[in-house]
Amino acid sequence: MGFRHVILDRDGVLNYEAPEGSYVREPSQFRWLPGALAGLALLHRAGVRLSVATNQAGVGRGLMSLAPHGAALDAVLYCPHAPDEQCACRKPAPGLIQAAVARSGIAASDSIVVGDDRRDLEAAERAGVAAALVRTGKGRRTEALLGNAAVPAYDDLHELARAILAARADASSGREPE
Ligand SMILES: [Mg+2]
Ligand SMILES: [Zn+2]
Repeated sequence: MGFRHVILDRDGVLNYEAPEGSYVREPSQFRWLPGALAGLALLHRAGVRLSVATNQAGVGRGLMSLAPHGAALDAVLYCPHAPDEQCACRKPAPGLIQAAVARSGIAASDSIVVGDDRRDLEAAERAGVAAALVRTGKGRRTEALLGNAAVPAYDDLHELARAILAARADASSGREPE
């Protein structure tokens, strides 16, 4: 868990999802999930690189105005294609994750994908990157679908951020991470 680069899904991880059948496109529709800002701030202060990899375009500006909260994103990547275009980037395809890794300059083995949906986990696996679930958005449903022990799951981004930083502290003090 001592990761140096966290690749985040957006809807259901950072912000509340739009009602079924609609999309978060306007900054006014963007509402942070509990724990998301605190988790981002914790990771940012610890020097962890933060990327967002989302299937949905838009709301980039809302995402980037994090400075007042002590957080910042290093990169926001999104798939600009329609679902029926069969592109290589729309999750569960691995392209967005691979692009986030390539742009970061940090090894895939030091990176982790954080998502709430099965397609996030599948994209991570296909890109050769570790993955974790948050129980926000579709996360609880996804966890139930997968059964336990499939991937580590955390209540929200703040809990996951604390686990990553605790593992880093263990590693730097010479203790074996769990
Ligand atoms: Mg999601
Ligand atoms: Zn695409």
